Amino acid sequence: MKINLANIKKAKKLLNKNECIAIPTETVYGLAANAYSDQACKKIYKLKKRPKKNPLIIHYFNLKKLRKDCFYNNNFLRLYKKFCPGPITFILDLKKNSKISKIATNNKKTLAVRFPKHSIARSLLKTLEYPLAAPSANLSSKVSAVSSSDVKEDFGKKIKYVLEGGRSAIGLESTIIDIRKKPKVLRLGGLTLGSIQKNLKEKIKINNSPEKITSPGQSKLHYSPGIPIRINVKKIKKNEALLFLKNNHKANTNHFFLSKKGNLNEAAKNLYSTLRKIKKNKFKSIAVKKIPNKGLGKTINDRLIRASKF
Ligand code: AMP
Ligand code: MG
Repeated sequence: MKINLANIKKAKKLLNKNECIAIPTETVYGLAANAYSDQACKKIYKLKKRPKKNPLIIHYFNLKKLRKDCFYNNNFLRLYKKFCPGPITFILDLKKNSKISKIATNNKKTLAVRFPKHSIARSLLKTLEYPLAAPSANLSSKVSAVSSSDVKEDFGKKIKYVLEGGRSAIGLESTIIDIRKKPKVLRLGGLTLGSIQKNLKEKIKINNSPEKITSPGQSKLHYSPGIPIRINVKKIKKNEALLFLKNNHKANTNHFFLSKKGNLNEAAKNLYSTLRKIKKNKFKSIAVKKIPNKGLGKTINDRLIRASKF
């Protein structure tokens, strides 16, 4: 997407005044503020109605800017070189003299960091003197926003500015990996487990059991469109929408497919907007047909399972 420098300038001006704005990224839209400012980070929690104990992902332009705040190791560098900028978030050890707001980390000694790929997000980050704390730009526990209109739908006039960046190319949140010791994935996301394993040449555990929550993206009810979801369903109920992967069903007002040809990347991109659309069309619940559990299908299923704990 073409970069509009006047928009970047406006975003920068607001961020410099400790305001909170929405920014586009390739995963989902983010609710961004100066990560070095307590005052700015507090605004994110307030606007999102996010529990204080849920720390924020910090967005950097590049490694050079990250060095002031975190320690990192060889495994991090391997993944950074291969996949960044991109849809992967790393849990790293925070340096003692880091200026990151304790509001953003909830006083943790670790930091979640990401390098977004979206050209507009990069162009903004490049001009700033600080990294951006940015959780997904949606109300806490609800479906993430993948367009500027989604953000406006959730926050209306409460948000000072939405930096336009078109539709998010991936449409699912980043994959979170704790890379400090033996790598473990804390949240499935836009980068597949397979590609991470291939790069590190080792099998990686997914640590997202609800009993041992270290990352609230792991918590039970999350990513909810606000109506009940039933998964792996064969027969639907009255007033229920049917959601399925491939467009091989009869055209019907209650039928919603995620990808014309059954492509899982395209399905990921369409998932949240389709859930929002179904809710807007006043269906009482959503029945989901089985989606293949491979590649990004794993992340799609993870989100649908969590959204089904309504
Ligand atoms: P969101 O930005 O809404 O997609 O959520 C960010 C996710 O990153 C949440 O699940 C947080 O709990 C997780 N997160 C942020 N900081 C840390 C950290 N230091 N350790 C583990 N998870 C984290
Ligand atoms: Mg979120």
